[in-house]
Amino acid sequence: MSDLVSKHTIGSPYPYEAPASQALFERASVVTPGGVNSPVRAFKAVGGTPRFMVAGQGPWLTDADGREYVDLVCSWGPMILGHAHPEVIGAVQDAVSRGTSFGTPGQGEVELAEEIVARITPVEQVRLVSSGTEATMSAIRLARGFTGRAKVVKFAGCYHGHVDALLAAAGSGVATFALPDTPGVTGAQAGDTIVLPYNDLDAVRAAFAAHPGEIACVITEASPGNMGVVPPLPGFNKGLTELCRANGALFISDEVMTGFRVSKAGWYGFESANEGWSADVKPDLMTFGKVMGGGFPAAAFGGRADVMAHLAPAGPVYQAGTLSGNPVATAAGLAQLRACTDAVYATVDQVAAEVGALVTEALHKEGVAHRLQTAGNMFSVFFTDQPVTNYDEARAQESFRFTAFFHAMLSQGVYLPPSAFESWFVSAAHDERALERIAAALPVAARAAAETTQKGY
Ligand code: PLP
Repeated sequence: MSDLVSKHTIGSPYPYEAPASQALFERASVVTPGGVNSPVRAFKAVGGTPRFMVAGQGPWLTDADGREYVDLVCSWGPMILGHAHPEVIGAVQDAVSRGTSFGTPGQGEVELAEEIVARITPVEQVRLVSSGTEATMSAIRLARGFTGRAKVVKFAGCYHGHVDALLAAAGSGVATFALPDTPGVTGAQAGDTIVLPYNDLDAVRAAFAAHPGEIACVITEASPGNMGVVPPLPGFNKGLTELCRANGALFISDEVMTGFRVSKAGWYGFESANEGWSADVKPDLMTFGKVMGGGFPAAAFGGRADVMAHLAPAGPVYQAGTLSGNPVATAAGLAQLRACTDAVYATVDQVAAEVGALVTEALHKEGVAHRLQTAGNMFSVFFTDQPVTNYDEARAQESFRFTAFFHAMLSQGVYLPPSAFESWFVSAAHDERALERIAAALPVAARAAAETTQKGY
């Protein structure tokens, strides 16, 4: 083992079981910080060797050592149809054969924008970008430009990409001005961000009272999945809409994760139907990514036409992108959205319910305290017997049990998110064979979670 490798894995109780991945990780660590291009992929929260994947087909991933895993990450949400879906691959091949980027407008962008506007009532106009981070960053800039105000309210535990102003989750219980979560974000960049506890409308009311005429927008994950799955309490999103409207601020619903995943119209469609919202209860701006790109870098923000009219070149708020509306990405996204029929959503819902039930049953049998939390077909397991409604409660779980659970599942060919604070994702391609693999792995993993006392990660 080289020094480089030992630096990454020292103290890990998990032996090297993946020599080809280990070798790639070692090479990657020389040329890439931490050996990965997005931190969660490094397995830091669970230890061990990150698996380098070489192929995906349906619900299966194959790693560099040739091992197959049932994929319960689905690229962190996008792969709702499973990997290498023939309609998406066909659309991509067709688009690629006509050229990969023009830097001009194209028909695919119009069609993708029309598809989004047709599905999601509050979105009257939409601008395509390349990542969820760009979408939320641009939506915040637009909200500030439109209102002429500086401050932004976000909620602890909600992740909106690595936007400087939003990399601040500090503060719990009471309204606090955020301290940056990371070096490189200055106090000035985070100083206009107010971080509040999730699911707490009183805290939002108090923030508006403390800063009259100063708050440009409130941004929230439509239903958070980035602290594990913590759905909004009934009336929370509706309350945010009303408070924003009453105080002249914009309400931004971040649907990068939930959009086109939990229903055809995302969380907005799901919740407005469940709670019987009237037509005027809606976000002013919404952000999208993941599923709408079909596995390619495509994302979007959109909403009220009068707000979007402030965006360049129609208006003064600047926003742009060399690869925005890229023809291959838009073709992939459009093909995926069109293939996401009602039957697909019904299947994804069914698979999610089955996997959730299997997990609960296995943990219950071993007497492991846990909560399965769901938001449509998104779900995650918290190792606690208490309900989780905000970030503080999420962090109170016994996450060391997840580490043992995760590695037991991984070693039996089931790939979970490598952190206790992430949503699990399934696809319409998860079939009987995939479910059988999960069911077979769970008893050992549940026992590992019950027996572990290791709190090292
Ligand atoms: N918003 C939410 C709710 C997300 O879950 C994510 C990514 O996970 C983002 C924004 C950022 O998206 P991206 O990783 O494409 O920049």
